[in-house]
Parts: sequence; C-alpha cells; structure tokens
Amino acid sequence: MTPLIVANWKMQLSDADAVATAQRLAATAPPDVEVVVCPPFTSLVRIADALRGSSVMLGAQDCAWLERGALTGEVSPADLAALGCRYVIVGHSERRQLLGEQDAVIGKKVRAAIVEGLRPILCVGETFEERRAGKREAVLTAQTAVLHGLDLVGTQRLCVAYEPVWAIGTGHAATPEDVAQAHAFIAEQVREHLRAAAKRVRILYGGSVGPENIAAFLAVPRVDGVLVGTAGQTAARLRNLIAHWKESAE
Ligand code: PEP
Repeated sequence: MTPLIVANWKMQLSDADAVATAQRLAATAPPDVEVVVCPPFTSLVRIADALRGSSVMLGAQDCAWLERGALTGEVSPADLAALGCRYVIVGHSERRQLLGEQDAVIGKKVRAAIVEGLRPILCVGETFEERRAGKREAVLTAQTAVLHGLDLVGTQRLCVAYEPVWAIGTGHAATPEDVAQAHAFIAEQVREHLRAAAKRVRILYGGSVGPENIAAFLAVPRVDGVLVGTAGQTAARLRNLIAHWKESAE
C-alpha cells in the first residue's frame, strides 16, 4: 500500500510562506504518493485553493469536539470539511502537554471529526519518563481507549500516529525495532476496540523522521506512513523525503 506522508506545519510558517510552499508542492509532488499538509488554520482557505487539482491533500492541526456551540476560539470540524480538509490531527503531544488536552476531549474530537467526514489522525505516544518507567504500553492502552465503540461506518478511515514524545523535534528518532513493537501493540488495541473496522485504520510513525531514516521506518510491518514536523516544513524538504522513500521502494 502507498504510504501516507503527513506534514504538520505547526505554527512555523507565516501565511505567505505556507501558501508559497503549498503552491510549490502542488506543482511538483509526484501523483503516486499520498501527501497531506496541515497548515495553520489561518492559511487553510488559501491553501485549499492552491492545492486544487493536485494530488496533495489538506489537513488541519486540530478541531473542536462539537459541530456548533459557544466555544470561543475553537474551529468546527464541519467548517474544516466544508473548506476542503480531508484529515485532521487530534491529540498531538504539544496540545496534550502544553495545553493540558485530556483523553476525554480528544475522544470527542475524534468522533466529531468522523461525523463530519474528516479522517482523524489520533496522536499517541509516551514521554521519556514514562518510557524509562516501563509504562509505554500502559500509556498507549489509555490513549487508544478513546477509540472504543467508535462507529467507523461505511468507508470511513482513521489514522493513529505513534509519536513518542521524546522523539519529536529532538533529532533522536525511535529505532525501527522500537517502532515495530509499538505499532504491533497499537494494532492489537485498535483491533480490540474497532473489530472489523480496524482494517480501515492506518498506523503512522512520527518523531524525527527525515530523508536518512524514512525508508527504514516504512519497511517496518504495520508502519503505514509517517507524520513529520521538521522534515516537511518546506517544499524542498518534503520532496526530498518523498524522493528518499521512492528510491528505496524501487
Ligand atoms: C511532530 O511534531 O509531530 C513531529 C513528528 O515533529 P518532528 O518530525 O520534527 O520530530
């Protein structure tokens, strides 16, 4: 299966830079890879225009847990879908750690996104301290439990991104062996919670993925794609990343 490559632009690019990057990508991304870019909310409308007709898909970095409501500062998943988003990142560790997002609200966001036809990318992963204390599986069990009883109807799809917090933006990626174990464990949890619909879940790895290691990660069983920060924040870097994966796949 073609891997999914998701680029999280966080709050790293100005509107002008984000739009220019999207335009370059739209003109040059190979048609046979599945690439999603997740720009800041303020650039989504212009980037939806820039990507029209290209193979690059649009995603958001977060969404509200309701379609409508008195939620100052939140962004409705219905509006994200209406302006062309296909994917939405939910529960990124930066939101869990810096903004105190909890599993309860993350679970509601996943459901709200699905109701609006978006594909959630649920981020899970342990901190360094949790890893050192041997709690990785306990953390992954709790964070994936938000999927329990989720109604993934018809052809709806979902991603779970394994992003060990200690590997994000640090240059210290997990090893492929580590990732293989974590992904096998996540796949088991997903099967338990979603039963037959587990077939429609892709498991991505994220955490210091770059051109030097993308091929090794994508060769691991049950790694169905990658979620990248640093390596996807310019068109040239993202193209380079894709080129390294393609070279290894040929
Ligand atoms: C991320 O922020 O989700 C991420 C994976 O960042 P980086 O690729 O820079 O580690």
